[in-house]
Amino acid sequence: MKRKINQYLLCIAGMTILITLLSLIAVFYGIFQRQVMGDLRTFCYLLKASVQREGEIPQGDSNLEEIRITWMDADGTVLADSNADVDEMDNHLDRTEIAQAIREGEGTAIRRSDTMSRDTFYYAILMEDGSVLRAARETDSIWSIFQTAFPAIFLVVAGMAAVSVFVSHAVTRHLVKPIEEMAKHLGSNTVEPVYKELAPFVNTIRQQHEDILRSAHIRQEFTANVSHELKTPLTVISGYSELIQSGIASGEDAVRFAGEIHKNASRLLTLINDIIRLSQLDSDDREMAKEAVDLYQTARGIVDLLKVNAEKQEIAMTLGGSPQTVAGDRRMLEELIYNLCDNAIRYNKRGGTVAVTVGHTAEGPFLSIKDTGIGIPPEHQQRVFERFYRVDKGRSKSTGGTGLGLAIVKHIVTWHGAELKLESEEGKGTEIVIRFPG
Ligand code: ADP
Repeated sequence: MKRKINQYLLCIAGMTILITLLSLIAVFYGIFQRQVMGDLRTFCYLLKASVQREGEIPQGDSNLEEIRITWMDADGTVLADSNADVDEMDNHLDRTEIAQAIREGEGTAIRRSDTMSRDTFYYAILMEDGSVLRAARETDSIWSIFQTAFPAIFLVVAGMAAVSVFVSHAVTRHLVKPIEEMAKHLGSNTVEPVYKELAPFVNTIRQQHEDILRSAHIRQEFTANVSHELKTPLTVISGYSELIQSGIASGEDAVRFAGEIHKNASRLLTLINDIIRLSQLDSDDREMAKEAVDLYQTARGIVDLLKVNAEKQEIAMTLGGSPQTVAGDRRMLEELIYNLCDNAIRYNKRGGTVAVTVGHTAEGPFLSIKDTGIGIPPEHQQRVFERFYRVDKGRSKSTGGTGLGLAIVKHIVTWHGAELKLESEEGKGTEIVIRFPG
């Protein structure tokens, strides 16, 4: 950044120096031209009076060495010249200044020498008798002035460039230093952006910083939870298998221990499956193709699957509503309905009900799963969607819960662009409604 600002400042300084120099040369040369022409004009008027009086042009005057005087007849024939032999001179009628003087009374011209190093200024004036008097003066051309002045110009430019380099470094340092200071303490909320234009940038960085910290914390917590959740069944499996291996367990106990091992191994499998599923959903955040899925048919399949299990616990499952198509992923929607219905059964009471409804409102299709179970106390209602958060850990574990079901549900709902609403009353039941985009 420093380098860029430096480069820009130096570019600006260089261009400014160059443009200023060129403009100055052009302006001064313009003034110089006007001055020379003005002098020639005054001289011509004085000369006119003298020639009219004397009848000839002044010759051999050392004061007039720099000025060449030519006198021409009305037809362009040279009558007299202060510097050259008249007989060798051609007709001057085609000269711009002469033609202009005959036409308008006065004429001017500037001609450049072949080498471009000298300019000749001409001023011509019409006499009363129709003849034309011309004064000419040779000066250095703008190029030659530039060449002569080049060493001085070079020194000035070099000096100004050195000053520009110094100033641009100082300015850049002055501009960037507060930003560097701010960057060092960007994480702290007390540091204010030095330039108000940087406020949105600083806020975004801060927000990202906070998000990174938050997700690092969530990840850390998740890893700790996973380790803990895996450890418990593994300890049980290890303990029972050790007992069987050592031969301490009698035949009947061995069968019971093997049953415990099997139960905990299944628990582990369910847990690992849920963890894998969550991490898949995490990485599936990218846009996956959506298909048209009939919510009612999907719910029908899940209700049929869980009904027998529910009836064993004397819980009646019903499905109501009408076919509704949503844009989504069939497998995810099945998982969503399964997890919600499974919870509605596991956290229910004997003789309770689970009512699944698929319907449509003005905003779009919806899915409702309502149970008459134990309910969720208000202080837990927001947190049950966190990974491994459980209101009653014992009940969750004894019914085969992993604490990840609702986290998976939340993921799926977000992926579908849907909205989830939970209403629950302790001891009376819970209703979860998911509204899909119309
Ligand atoms: P779990 O595998 O423990 O059921 P979930 O993520 O599915 O994990 O649910 C988180 C917690 O929310 C559960 O442990 C339970 O305490 C509570 N919960 C979920 N669904 C219901 C429900 N229908 N009725 C009462 N409590 C529920």
